[in-house]
Amino acid sequence: MTDCLFCKIVKGEVSSTVVFENGKFLVFKDIHPKADVHVLVVPKEHIASVDHITERDKAVLGDMFLTVKDAAEKLGVSGRYRLLVNVGRDGGQEIDHLHMHILAGDRREVPRE
Ligand code: AMP
Ligand code: ZN
Repeated sequence: MTDCLFCKIVKGEVSSTVVFENGKFLVFKDIHPKADVHVLVVPKEHIASVDHITERDKAVLGDMFLTVKDAAEKLGVSGRYRLLVNVGRDGGQEIDHLHMHILAGDRREVPRE
């Protein structure tokens, strides 16, 4: 996806503050943090949203949760964080590349639903 911001971040064409990386995922700081710790877990492969996942993506989706666990440990927030996935424009999704928000610490108007 040449026009996708998160694909560009994955390729290093747009800069980001990476906090964790493995073969399939990049975890970087959200540019507009809504909590003390606010990072995005982004698959290196482009998947537009949860609405676009297929059987073929099952392995990467399992790996996504393992990556969350590893990133939470690295960030020192294990046992005290929330995960958020927005889907579709009306569901609050701004970037059409699947990602999970890890939020921990003081909340700043973080939506609960
Ligand atoms: P969502 O609304 O779930 O699509 O989340 C997209 C998130 O990406 C928002 O929380 C933005 O603050 C964040 N964001 C947008 N551009 C960048 C960027 N260049 N680097 C890091 N985070 C970004
Ligand atoms: Zn993308």
